[in-house]
Amino acid sequence: MEQEIYRIYFKQHIGNPALSCVLAGEKVCAGQLIGRAGEGLSLNVHSSVTGEVIQVTEGFADIRKCSSKEGDYLPLTENSPLELIKEAGICGMGGAGFPAYAKLDTDLSQGGMVIINAAECEPILNHNLKRIAASPKEIVEGLLIVQKITGAAKGIIALKEKHSNEVKILKEHLKENMELALLPDIYPMGEERAIVREVTGKLLDANSLPLAAGAVVINLETLYRIYEAVILKKPAITKDLTVGGAVEKGITVLLDVPVGTQVESLLQEAGGLKPDVGELILGGPFTGKRTIKEEYISKTTGGIIAAMPFLQDKRNMGLLVCACGAGEERLRQIAASMGAKVVGVEFCKQAHEVKGNLKCDNPGKCPGQSAKVLKLRSQGAETLLISNCTDCSNTVMSIAPGLKMPVYHCTDGALRAAGLRLVRKVRLGGV
Ligand code: SF4
Repeated sequence: MEQEIYRIYFKQHIGNPALSCVLAGEKVCAGQLIGRAGEGLSLNVHSSVTGEVIQVTEGFADIRKCSSKEGDYLPLTENSPLELIKEAGICGMGGAGFPAYAKLDTDLSQGGMVIINAAECEPILNHNLKRIAASPKEIVEGLLIVQKITGAAKGIIALKEKHSNEVKILKEHLKENMELALLPDIYPMGEERAIVREVTGKLLDANSLPLAAGAVVINLETLYRIYEAVILKKPAITKDLTVGGAVEKGITVLLDVPVGTQVESLLQEAGGLKPDVGELILGGPFTGKRTIKEEYISKTTGGIIAAMPFLQDKRNMGLLVCACGAGEERLRQIAASMGAKVVGVEFCKQAHEVKGNLKCDNPGKCPGQSAKVLKLRSQGAETLLISNCTDCSNTVMSIAPGLKMPVYHCTDGALRAAGLRLVRKVRLGGV
């Protein structure tokens, strides 16, 4: 049965929420403004479907869809590219949610560059690759637009070298002053400073933005939505995402899903859930959060993953937290689902708090984890649950088995369900 109600959140981005500008009972068109950007850093929010508003709260509007016609929308009205991007309500669609207009309102004319982040480093997620294959001309057009806005002479699309098909497609479409940067297959290659380090050779400290290296980094789907806003006058009302794990059709990539679609409806697109599921994850295996079938997707949702039932291990467990993977709270949630008792929590020594978030000094380059593992051992840990990057998981595996400590990783349930290799010892080709 087709979904009837779409829930559009007024805060789907970093900054202040949009302020509702519709009332219950109003008829709205797809693309119509329903939340006007609030004070300061904020973004517009539009209806993704044509229908009737049936409920408005401070946090969201529920809209009953009443037209099955897909693809129509009320066009944007601004003139300049930057104003169109602002009017469209585009934020970082790789998960960060930073308003795109604010990021692009910068001058890179003194030798700066725009880097397009197509690393797609979370396992299972595949929609950026599918978008490259589906829309290479539009991506290149989008890159020209952002180069023009910022004055950047150079545009670089960064993707993993192993994705040879997409590398070939892009090479055939690149224009002057554009190039590809080929990335190694490790997690977290999509972290902004990791990409800047690989592309420019400069390692930024945890407090610095890519601008300190003369770069602006934009997620690949964000770039595609910029193309849509500037050329097609389309607001940010659709999202690419991947459904995977314990679903009947296996990994299923969905392009242009209306924002506000319910998780249940997308699981059905992937054939529905298999009988045994431990949890549903919104996002990727490393950084996603537990969700429910009744939740709705936003502009930053990249994945819906059904994980395997949790392995049960009631022994004392130590948690080792990465700045770029699951945080302490998420690891505690997984430990509780495994029936384990948490006896110690350690953070990778490269993880530091910056403005309330953990940041890594040098993402993906392991500082050595032996001391942390031994410390957790001394606190009574018999097992380990870790969220470390590929390189650090490798060093955990170089010591924990010798101490007879079984190692679990935050991504295990998702990767097992998808039939993919677990994050443990690094092999050529990475995770
Ligand atoms: S070095 Fe440490 S904090 Fe940085 S990505 Fe690896 S595990 Fe995470």
